[in-house]
Amino acid sequence: MSAQGFHGLKRQVPLKVADGRRPLGVLAALPEELGDLVAAMRAQSAVESITLGRREYHVGLAYGVPCVVTLARVGKVAAAATVSALIHVFDVEAVVFTGVAGGVGDAVRVGDVVVAQTLLQHDLDASPLFARFEVPLLGRTHFAADARLTAQLANACEQFLAQQGAALAARFGVSDVSGTSSTRLPQLHQGLVVSGDQFVASASAHAALKMAVPEALAVEMEGAAIAQICYEYGLPCAVVRTVSDTADHAAPASFEAFLATLAASYSSGILQHFLVAYQPQPAGS
Ligand code: SAH
Repeated sequence: MSAQGFHGLKRQVPLKVADGRRPLGVLAALPEELGDLVAAMRAQSAVESITLGRREYHVGLAYGVPCVVTLARVGKVAAAATVSALIHVFDVEAVVFTGVAGGVGDAVRVGDVVVAQTLLQHDLDASPLFARFEVPLLGRTHFAADARLTAQLANACEQFLAQQGAALAARFGVSDVSGTSSTRLPQLHQGLVVSGDQFVASASAHAALKMAVPEALAVEMEGAAIAQICYEYGLPCAVVRTVSDTADHAAPASFEAFLATLAASYSSGILQHFLVAYQPQPAGS
């Protein structure tokens, strides 16, 4: 590839990071959801920041792991385009997404963490030509997160919650299920995460979603798009979501408050635990 004029990227592509290892792609939708990751990279090594398609891609080492870190912005199109750049321009070996979501599973509360095992686009409906939720011409509704990468991410969440859970619970002050004032510690859930181009914020939208996809644990706006692209390219992906709201009438205020005060603490802590223990993809994968 020429060093000139590749959609404004004036250097060799794909980029190589550090000792020839393929980098890990780390992304979120909003700045708060990346926590202190880019600052931590800058403190550790030189970081090269490349602007492409109105996004900044930060290339460097994070806790010893070669990474490309970026913000997708909000929604499925933005997420798919960003992950496509991570694949084609930066040759990432895998993709990890971190952010907040609305909790819809019965046991899922604000402050909990959901790690996706499978993902689905809840707003995709080409029926009667295709089954509801099926991605036309791909023949599937659900996209699996990579089991190995997901296990690493879930371990990181467990460690983070074991260390920080009580302090975090005190900050968001959620009472337990019975409504008493005793504090409930944040929990980790694993299962189905659903994505669509809607901020779900009413009792009726929440109920409709639960009716359509009863096993959904959390709803957000990017994850299943990323999982679809990673599936198409055979690339491992994993998605972690901290529950900022419960996708009901209180969601806008709950989301804003959580994003402003807690999202960064969760992402910073989870990503640190994850990257410190990160096992690269096995050779040849
Ligand atoms: N302009 C807003 C956009 C937020 S959209 C802002 O910057 O403040 C909400 C984001 O959080 C999306 O990226 C989505 O993935 C996630 N999210 C959190 N709660 C959600 C909910 N109830 N429904 C859908 N997405 C949610």
